[in-house]
Amino acid sequence: MIFLKRARTRYTLHRYAIKHKLWVAVTSQLQVLQGMSSVEKAHLRELSTLFVHEKNIFGAQDFQLTEEMRVMIAVQACLPILALGIELVSTWSDIIVYPDAFQVSRDERDEFGIVHHETHLLSGESWQRGPLILSWQDIEMDRQRWQQGHNVVIHEIAHKLDSLNGSANGMPPLHVAMHPEQWATTFSAAYQLFTQRLEHHQRVCVNPYAATNPAEFFAVFSEYFFCAPDILKNHFADVYQLLQLYYRQDPLRRCQIRQ
Ligand SMILES: [Zn+2]
Repeated sequence: MIFLKRARTRYTLHRYAIKHKLWVAVTSQLQVLQGMSSVEKAHLRELSTLFVHEKNIFGAQDFQLTEEMRVMIAVQACLPILALGIELVSTWSDIIVYPDAFQVSRDERDEFGIVHHETHLLSGESWQRGPLILSWQDIEMDRQRWQQGHNVVIHEIAHKLDSLNGSANGMPPLHVAMHPEQWATTFSAAYQLFTQRLEHHQRVCVNPYAATNPAEFFAVFSEYFFCAPDILKNHFADVYQLLQLYYRQDPLRRCQIRQ
């Protein structure tokens, strides 16, 4: 079975490889990739090829996606799993892309147990076993202001990774050599510090949305890990170190090469 799977992967990589011109057109627009080694880029291209081939990426509300848009999404989705493998995103297949922010309505229970019907405007959403939903307008905005640490695709992929061991709670399944207690202690302390700073109206260098809950904290900090690693390392060095162990990448090194 493993032999067959490998043969199929080799065939897909050979038959459906993202064309060089398209690859250059997409990756040259993504500053977050600058500083990557040629080996890392080659691996990212392979993962992106498999991703585009295996996922069903389509537009909502008659929104038409081009091949370049699909590759643009795939490259950013594959960056967090570059050293983890495509298997980590193989439990779901659909990516629905809205032209801009989309509305969702659902019942939410408040701290007193009262259920309210709430409507939110979202740039992305990830269902535990369902599709990943994105707003193209937000993907475009991220491409232009990457240094601020925003990346809706990375954010939603982080939720998907977090959900691999149940509902998203800020702790994805860790590698064997990692310690869950250390993860829980470090992230809890950072989350507490972050929410306290916000409560006291102190300046925070990371998007305040991270204070929503531990799952959003992990997703937002993952965005900063890849898109603004210097900010994360300066303010939350111990969290940066754990994310470096988890993602098995060092974006700060790439950032330093860029400068
Ligand atoms: Zn989120």
